[in-house]
Amino acid sequence: MAGELKPLSLKRVGDGLQVQWSDGVTTVTPWRTLRKNCPCASCTEERAKPPDPFRVLSPQEVAAGAPQPVAMQPVGHYAYKITWNDGHDTGIYPVERLRQLGEESK
Ligand SMILES: [Zn+2]
Repeated sequence: MAGELKPLSLKRVGDGLQVQWSDGVTTVTPWRTLRKNCPCASCTEERAKPPDPFRVLSPQEVAAGAPQPVAMQPVGHYAYKITWNDGHDTGIYPVERLRQLGEESK
């Protein structure tokens, strides 16, 4: 691939994030997928554990329902920080990760 892969535009489309990339590809990633794949240390650790069928949802999780971002801001040139409606804000998504999680839309 020639040059750096960069997002040219990011926008909220329905229940997901639409990204137009510098190589001409457009991807859409559902917010749920992004939230589930939060790259922060505590979520990564959480995903490494076996699932607990008796896990109780925190009051924030119950109140929040479907994950929605309340803010998204660039961190340097190669990552975005997403603040979620459940109050979680430690996830910083590198642009390559956004690309991996995206589904190509035509
Ligand atoms: Zn996280």
